[in-house]
Amino acid sequence: MQNDFFSTEEFSARQKTGLRRAINHAAQNSPFYRRLFDEKSLNPDQIETPDDFANVPFTTKSDLRQAYPYGMAAVPLDKILRIHASSGTTGKPIVAGYTRADLECWAEGVARICEMAGVTSKDIAQISFGYGLFTGGFGLHYGLEWLGTTVVPFSSGNTERQLALMQDFQTNVLVSTPSFAIYMAEAARELGYNPRDFGLKIGLFGGEPCSDAMREDIENQWGLKATVNYGLTEVVGPGISGECLKTRGMHILEDIYYPEIIDPENGRVLADGETGELVLTPMFKEGFPVLRYRTGDITRLIPGPCPCGRTTRRMDYITGRSDDMIIIKGVNIFPSQIEEVLAGFPEVSPHYRLVLKKDKGFIKDLEVQVELTPEGFTDSFQELEALDGRIRQRLRSTLSLGPRVKLMEPKSLERTTGKAKRIVEEQA
Ligand code: ADP
Ligand code: ZN
Repeated sequence: MQNDFFSTEEFSARQKTGLRRAINHAAQNSPFYRRLFDEKSLNPDQIETPDDFANVPFTTKSDLRQAYPYGMAAVPLDKILRIHASSGTTGKPIVAGYTRADLECWAEGVARICEMAGVTSKDIAQISFGYGLFTGGFGLHYGLEWLGTTVVPFSSGNTERQLALMQDFQTNVLVSTPSFAIYMAEAARELGYNPRDFGLKIGLFGGEPCSDAMREDIENQWGLKATVNYGLTEVVGPGISGECLKTRGMHILEDIYYPEIIDPENGRVLADGETGELVLTPMFKEGFPVLRYRTGDITRLIPGPCPCGRTTRRMDYITGRSDDMIIIKGVNIFPSQIEEVLAGFPEVSPHYRLVLKKDKGFIKDLEVQVELTPEGFTDSFQELEALDGRIRQRLRSTLSLGPRVKLMEPKSLERTTGKAKRIVEEQA
C-alpha cells in the first residue's frame, strides 16, 4: 500500500507530527504520563526533534503491570470498544484497551502486513492463532478482512479438525505460530496426509521466533512460502512489522510505529545496523497510549533499501527476548544461540527445550533436551553417545559453556498449539 513507499522526507514529516500527537495526547490525557512528565519536569511542548524525544523516559513492562487493569487508559472507559491482554508468557498479564479509531488503525496495519506477504482478497486464510485475550487471533482476523481475504476463524487446538476443514475449504493461507505449523504437518502425516497436498501457498507466522531451520522445515513440509511478522500486545498486537516476499527482515509500519534501538545497559539510542533492544512508540494510539515502550526484544534496524522497493525500514529477526536471557555461571545465553547450534545437526529435530535447575534464584544447571529425528533415531548407545558429545562440544565452543545434552525419542516433547515453551525451570 502507498504508505510503504513514502519518501524519507515524507516519513520524517509524518513521524514528527505523529510523535507530537502521541506526546500531547499522553501528557494531557494519561494519568500515568502526566505524573511521569511532572516528576521529570518535562515540558511536552519542548519535545520537538528526535533528539528531544530521547529525553522521554522509557516505559517498561513493569510500569504496565503496575497499571493493571486500567491505569494506562487515556480515554473514558466508555470509549474503549475492546480489551486484550498479553498471553502472560512471562508473568502477570498486561491489559490493552482499544478505541474505535485504534481498532481501525490496527486492522489497516495488519492488512498492510498481510499484503506485503503476498496475501490478496482472492485468498482463503485459516487463522490458527488463539482467539480471546491474546491479540493474535483477532488482530489477524480484522486485518485480513480489511484486505478482503476470506477468513476461516478456527482458533487454536483440535488439529485433526483444522486439517479436515483446511482441505474442504481450500484454504491457501495459514496463520499460526511457527511451532504450530510444524506440529500440524507432523499431525497431518500421522493421519496419512501429505501436507503438500493441502495446497497452502503462504504462511503468516508470528508470536515467537522462527529460526532458519524451522522456516526451512515448514516450507519443505507444506510446500508454502513462509513469512514472518512481529508485534506485541503492549504496543497494539500483531501487525507492527512483517516480511515482504524477499524475506530479508521485517518492514516496520514506520508511519504508525516509531522504532528505536537502544543499548539495553544504558538506554543510549543506537544507529541503524547496531544490535540492541527495540523500543516502540505507537503514534496514533488513543485508548492505552505508550511512549518509548521497551519491548525486551533484541534486534537491529537493517540499513539500506529492500530489493522489493518499499521504503519502510526493516527490523531483523528477533534473536531473543531479554526475559528469556539465561545467565549461568556469568555467561549470558539466548535460547536462539542454542537453537542455531542444534540446527547444524541433521540427526536432531527443531523440537527442543531448555531445563534450568535453579537454586536461590540462580541457575545452577542447564540441560538441553532435544528430540532425534526419525532418521537420527537409533538403538546404538555408542552412536547416541558420540552424537551427544559432538553437540556438546559445538555448544561449548559457541557459548563458552558446555550444558548437558539429553537426546530424546522422536515426538517425546510436548507439542503446542500456540507459542512453544522452550524454557522450563526446576528447583534444584
Ligand atoms: P507475551 O509477552 O505474553 O508472549 P504477546 O502475545 O504480546 O505476549 O507477545 C509478544 C512477544 O512475542 C514479543 O515481544 C516477542 O518477544 C514475541 N514475538 C512476536 N512476534 C515475533 C516474531 N516474529 N519473532 C520473534 N518473536 C516474536
Ligand atoms: Zn521488502
